[in-house]
Amino acid sequence: MRRAPNDMPAGYAISNSPERPDRRSFLKTSGALSACALMATGALGSFAYADALTEAQRDRLTPEDILALMKQGNRRFYTGRHQDYNFLAQQRASAKAQYPAAVLLSCIDSRVPAETILDLGIGEIFNSRVAGNIENPDILGSMEFACRLAGAKVVLVMGHTACGAIKGAIDSAELGNLTGLLTKIKPAVVATTYSGERTSKNSAFVDAVAHKNVELTIANIRTGSPVLAELESKGAIRMAGAMYNLETGVVDFFGG
Ligand SMILES: [Zn+2]
Repeated sequence: MRRAPNDMPAGYAISNSPERPDRRSFLKTSGALSACALMATGALGSFAYADALTEAQRDRLTPEDILALMKQGNRRFYTGRHQDYNFLAQQRASAKAQYPAAVLLSCIDSRVPAETILDLGIGEIFNSRVAGNIENPDILGSMEFACRLAGAKVVLVMGHTACGAIKGAIDSAELGNLTGLLTKIKPAVVATTYSGERTSKNSAFVDAVAHKNVELTIANIRTGSPVLAELESKGAIRMAGAMYNLETGVVDFFGG
């Protein structure tokens, strides 16, 4: 079995690989990646291809590098140039340990699979999903594990357009346990500044509420988790928000 050098992960193959020229991945990518990140990974044309993100590679990346790599992965997705991952190699390489670079919080919507739309491989991100991407104590505990214990450096909350949970909150829908979940989204409905029609029929309003909901969720993560807030204040992690557009496939990261 072909093995990559110890310091090099799998999806992180290099563009000049003589064996698999098409295999580049999340944290080891193309010339579009910042020189800083490339140097951080030591990726500059040195290796063929590896199997999974290593601890050393992950630890050399800054939160900004990781966000940049996720943006690049999304660009590959929406331009139809996604990686040809060797998932079995990644599965085998990550079976004994994992060193994900980020923890995501996104909606359960079947059209928003984070690894696919960000073109990521196995072992590269923690992924928590709940309708309307709201936080709760269990989500916060998961994020604290991801960042404080497992070393992830980015907390990314990702909403999406035309979100059914957002529409349900606007409509004050009621159904079993869903009622309580939607209650957690309602503050975003109230807090959204919008002068037009404030109904679930108005897609612009729905998306504005989804955007506000991401902002409030990030704020709630900071107040609800002193563990994460401290990591962020020390610069060890970065919290970021994003909106995925179902129509275009583009993930819009807040603040660029
Ligand atoms: Zn949704």
